[in-house]
Amino acid sequence: CEYCLPCPVGVNIPSAFEVLNKLYMFKNTEEAKFMYAIRGGGIFSGLGEGYASQCIQCGECLEKCPQNIPIPEVLEEAVKYLEDDKVKERLTMGKKMLNME
Ligand code: SF4
Repeated sequence: CEYCLPCPVGVNIPSAFEVLNKLYMFKNTEEAKFMYAIRGGGIFSGLGEGYASQCIQCGECLEKCPQNIPIPEVLEEAVKYLEDDKVKERLTMGKKMLNME
């Protein structure tokens, strides 16, 4: 619903949630990590990088969420399952595939 936005440090919260949900549903880790890298990298939004690991736990999104989702905690799951030392590599690969470099 995006009521949680904007995040003061630019975390793309809906994107991280969406990819994490897809991971839980389809269990395709590699595909989810790739999607996470390019969506969190801002390729489609044009907003710059907004990975879950950028969260500073300020709590602003918690106040705005009408569903009372513990957003920073869920973002920690996104970091755990979707971010690793190859995020930037995947982002570069995604940009090449989309002719954005
Ligand atoms: S808690 Fe994290 S995701 Fe939520 S607004 Fe603050 S920095 Fe952004």
